[in-house]
Amino acid sequence: MMAVPKRKTSKQRKNKRRTHYKLEVPGMNACPNCGELRKSHHVCANCGFYDGKDVMTDAAAE
Ligand SMILES: [Zn+2]
Repeated sequence: MMAVPKRKTSKQRKNKRRTHYKLEVPGMNACPNCGELRKSHHVCANCGFYDGKDVMTDAAAE
């Protein structure tokens, strides 16, 4: 036997369930160096800064 829902899921119930759907991953912040939107705890894709340091240049200098 298949489980069959007894009641139709109302629009309100369906919409409330879907409030958890998000367009994008949360945890985005503005980069303190260049102001570009950047993922928290990630190196900035625009300027390569992380934790007040240019980590891209540091890696290249080694
Ligand atoms: Zn930046």
